[in-house]
Amino acid sequence: MYLDFLKGKNDYIRASARAHQAGLAAGTGGNLSVRLQGEELMLVKPSGITLGEVDETNLILADFEGRLVEGDMKPTKETLLHGELYKRYPHIGAVVHVHPIYSIIVANVFDEMGLVTKQMKQVMDIPVPVCKIKNNTINREGMDMIHSIFVKNGDVPCFLLEEHGLVAVGKTALEACYIAELVEENAKVFWEMHR
Ligand SMILES: [Zn+2]
Repeated sequence: MYLDFLKGKNDYIRASARAHQAGLAAGTGGNLSVRLQGEELMLVKPSGITLGEVDETNLILADFEGRLVEGDMKPTKETLLHGELYKRYPHIGAVVHVHPIYSIIVANVFDEMGLVTKQMKQVMDIPVPVCKIKNNTINREGMDMIHSIFVKNGDVPCFLLEEHGLVAVGKTALEACYIAELVEENAKVFWEMHR
């Protein structure tokens, strides 16, 4: 159990730094989570810090309802998204949620994003779904819309959120982060081809 925690923590910190360096979220936006195997707990980013500032001193543990279990700071408001995905989909080990520009543009203009790079075609074989949630934060109603994406398309590795960004999932945070980068690359090419 302790080794799982160590692996999860290291994976989290590496992926968070990478997402920050890749410019996937401005300001203190975006958040990652890693499921702790065998427990209904996840590592999450505290509210009010950037992805680039996450380290062992400020990382926190939350349950799947988004309640703080261990740590000094508050979980981000978007923690519900992560917990709900872990509850429903046992194959998901980590969630990366970020706000890159081209993904937002495509989500605002289109109802789905076609795959226009070979890299993305290796990740999935259907267009990336777009979820049009009207609320600023993802509440229960928003989660119902997200679950309907999984019901309709099966276990998708990513989806876009209108006026907001993207969500990528994987076995590890690093894997989910790579997918997030490929989604944003695809979004940039897709937008240049369609505008
Ligand atoms: Zn967000």
